[in-house]
Amino acid sequence: MTAALAVYLSACSTMPDDEEAEPMVSVSNDSRPLSSFALPPDQQDCYDRTSEPYTAVVDSHFHPRPFGGSAIPAPELFNFFDNTTVRFVNYFGIGQVLDLQSGCTYYLDCPGVPASPSIKNDFVNGMEVMAYPHENLHITLSMTFMDLAHPENITSLIELYDKEYPGMFSWSGELNVMKQALLGNLHEPATKESIDGWAPFMAVLQERGIPVTLHSDLGNDANPTEFLPLMEYVLASYPDNKIVWAHMGLSKELANMNPYEHVTIMQRLLGDYPNLMLDISWDVLFNAYHEWGPVFINFFNSHPTRILPGTDFVAAGTKSFDQYAKELDVTSRALKAMDDNAFRHIALGENYFRLMGLDYYAPDICPTTAAVSAGQ
Ligand SMILES: [Zn+2]
Repeated sequence: MTAALAVYLSACSTMPDDEEAEPMVSVSNDSRPLSSFALPPDQQDCYDRTSEPYTAVVDSHFHPRPFGGSAIPAPELFNFFDNTTVRFVNYFGIGQVLDLQSGCTYYLDCPGVPASPSIKNDFVNGMEVMAYPHENLHITLSMTFMDLAHPENITSLIELYDKEYPGMFSWSGELNVMKQALLGNLHEPATKESIDGWAPFMAVLQERGIPVTLHSDLGNDANPTEFLPLMEYVLASYPDNKIVWAHMGLSKELANMNPYEHVTIMQRLLGDYPNLMLDISWDVLFNAYHEWGPVFINFFNSHPTRILPGTDFVAAGTKSFDQYAKELDVTSRALKAMDDNAFRHIALGENYFRLMGLDYYAPDICPTTAAVSAGQ
């Protein structure tokens, strides 16, 4: 066993289902400011993994508003990020809004209440990003309104965004292709026919270089690959789009899949589709698969340029900083075990910057740490 895997496995013993696990997120005084990432790597201080945090600087999967009810106020939310290592965040709606008359705030608490794709939260997010200064945070606004089962009006709604928020939305998603957890709230999965109907809006996204994050369950415990053909159909239909597969297809409904089979499928698709990226957000990976840590760490180290980190935090007004800090910590524990090259690309933002064409750079890893890694 390598040292890195030993670290990962020891971290697994205090994984999220262990109530004693405390967040180990550093505060802003120790963390790098946004401005430092604007410098070329040779002008930044190298990153010392022995003394600096293992938590990511990018949260590429974050929901600033909940399915219903109040959200965490923007200035408070910006303080959350300021008090962690996160300097880059994707604002994912959330796109699916519970029926406003229901009074519901979380879809699983309200079976039968429709949760429908909507422009509501995107528009609020667009206003808040402009209304509040946040000099230590780079926010990427995302279009989350797309109904993938009914794509007919998507391009006309993109025109509405262009008119109301010109040039401000540079990501799309998280959009649901097939999300079993949401079926009780009348979520209508995409079909091969509706996927064919995405062509006009996928052409717009491709032309603008806008990535799209898709939630598409791989399957469930009864049939781990039940919905794989749907995602493969998407990838085969739109190979030139920047597609990010949320949670690598994992979900609470799929807890017992053979990890080698899972990784084999991911490797094949990464090979077949060079524009595909994998989102390793959400603590489901670490809840369901923590005993399989080495399988995944080796996979991440083998594909360092194809992975994006994130929390999948939903910023409901009832939540506190500690909850965000804990989710950031839990979802970053795999980063801690990665080799230096994968850590720089994934945790320190290099993949995110290149995917988005941003003028930011991940720092180099300090040589002393690199020497330790090389000696594994
Ligand atoms: Zn999400």
